[in-house]
Amino acid sequence: MSIARINGFADMFEPESTAFTFMESQCRKIFPAYGFKEVRLPVLEYTDLFARSIGTETDVVQKEMYTFPDSKGKPTSLRPEATAGMMRAYIAASLHAREQVSRLYTFGPMFRHERPQKGRMRQFHQIDCELLGSSSPVADADVVSLLVHFVSSLGIGGLTLRMNSLGCASCRQTYRQALISHFEKHEAELCEDCRRRLHANPLRVLDCKKDRELPCMLDAPRLLDYNCPDCLEHYETVTGLLKDAGIAYVQDDRLVRGLDYYCRTTFELQSDAIGAQTAVAGGGRYDGLVKQLGGPDIPGIGFACGMERLALLLGERQLQRPDFFVVSLDPSCTAFAFKLAQSLRHAGLSGETGYGSSGMKSAMRQAGKSGARFAVIVGTDELSRGACAVKNMDQGTQEEVPADALATYIANKD
Ligand SMILES: [Zn+2]
Ligand SMILES: [Zn+2]
Repeated sequence: MSIARINGFADMFEPESTAFTFMESQCRKIFPAYGFKEVRLPVLEYTDLFARSIGTETDVVQKEMYTFPDSKGKPTSLRPEATAGMMRAYIAASLHAREQVSRLYTFGPMFRHERPQKGRMRQFHQIDCELLGSSSPVADADVVSLLVHFVSSLGIGGLTLRMNSLGCASCRQTYRQALISHFEKHEAELCEDCRRRLHANPLRVLDCKKDRELPCMLDAPRLLDYNCPDCLEHYETVTGLLKDAGIAYVQDDRLVRGLDYYCRTTFELQSDAIGAQTAVAGGGRYDGLVKQLGGPDIPGIGFACGMERLALLLGERQLQRPDFFVVSLDPSCTAFAFKLAQSLRHAGLSGETGYGSSGMKSAMRQAGKSGARFAVIVGTDELSRGACAVKNMDQGTQEEVPADALATYIANKD
């Protein structure tokens, strides 16, 4: 009896695995260009970390984490997101004492036990980027432009950057009150969820999917009107820097974050490359988080990118074609063919070799199936001359090439 795959967990073959490798390699190219360094983090953490960072009242912590006790009975959880672990690692390594600004990124699997639905996996993957140690608006602009640069480098088009400013704790307090009084007047129009969270978390009412078209949503108080002069100046500097650098954005007054430690700049990147607007990444400033987790009072800003989403937008990527397929037509030629394939790989080319000798017809079928640009054929005649027959699989032409000139021959033809 075969063993089934767990629901919500995927096996990833080509071309999806190639899309992931491509995203990871672009990540390793673009992020360091902005001074970001890769961090590798554990996927298992003490549950307390997520309770303290994401909050015990959230759906993520209450219902969605994979939580089980370790051997001493202490609750541990598979990470549902990467920021908390990154903060824990940053504090544990005392990075703040070694450098004024830390620029960190990581990518890998996250786990949430939700009801699986199309495109929503229980093991999903994120790219996570965090800049710690600067409250300058230039840092915000740096992180946002890195995100736009990275996603554009994947060839994903139709991008819209949405931005808003949540203000600081003090200006948000006034805003919350204004929002509550506004929606209290329209309480009967709101959905059940919004009526319940109106007093506890009024900002979340703003991004309710069900109520988005209600007139009371459209004329709700705007966050920017409640930003204090410092917060407003910060935001205007960030958006000014982006504009100057040619990065377009849309002011989205209803873009909010549900968690208290988020402040000031908040942003989301969307793409309409596969029809409807899809969010591919979101982030913002979170100046209170490191302190909330027991570290020093260090400001931070970051974002997370959903890799499954990005992979969908990438579409099918052209797999890299192998350069050669080496085939032996006679058992006496096998050792020579095997050595030939090895020498080609050491010269930087890629390809397969047939296992065992075969007839010409079957050899060509195998070479065609491998997708190779060239079939390299070794028969007894060629072997006696220290050469091989090279067939260009796209053009159908064939030439005899001396074995020691083969690598150069293949490398210089396309
Ligand atoms: Zn403020
Ligand atoms: Zn609602």
